[in-house]
Amino acid sequence: MGVGAAVLIAVAACVLLVIGALYVRCVSRRFNATVARNSPPKITGLGSPSIAALPTVAYQRPREDRGTSRTLCSVCLGAMSEGELVRVLPACAHVFHVDCIDAWLRARATCPVCRSDLKLSHLVDTGESEIPPPPPPPPSPPISSTTVV
Ligand SMILES: [Zn+2]
Ligand SMILES: [Zn+2]
Repeated sequence: MGVGAAVLIAVAACVLLVIGALYVRCVSRRFNATVARNSPPKITGLGSPSIAALPTVAYQRPREDRGTSRTLCSVCLGAMSEGELVRVLPACAHVFHVDCIDAWLRARATCPVCRSDLKLSHLVDTGESEIPPPPPPPPSPPISSTTVV
């Protein structure tokens, strides 16, 4: 009677141990997968070489636009004067002051007016690499059945 109960308790303890070990391994694997997926967000702006590669032109007011309407820089809301250096975004042909759009593009790679993605339209090497797949889990050691004496 007494021996039977002791064996039963020992077997139950073993089963609990194995279940606990499996549970811990499962949780830690899931945790690793979550970490790999939730990598910290990258800075989405353009690098200086990419910004410098954007076309720069001397602003010229269209001939038919000699009235009161002036082209405004959407970043600083200031008017562009003729002959001033401006940048033309290749994605949408919107025009901005060089200083204004440079500062803007360092923070985000979209047009301030129409949100065109400059990274997609203008091939830019941001040095971003694909997240490598997580390493394969180590081979699980054979669960040795503990012999109860
Ligand atoms: Zn401006
Ligand atoms: Zn635009």
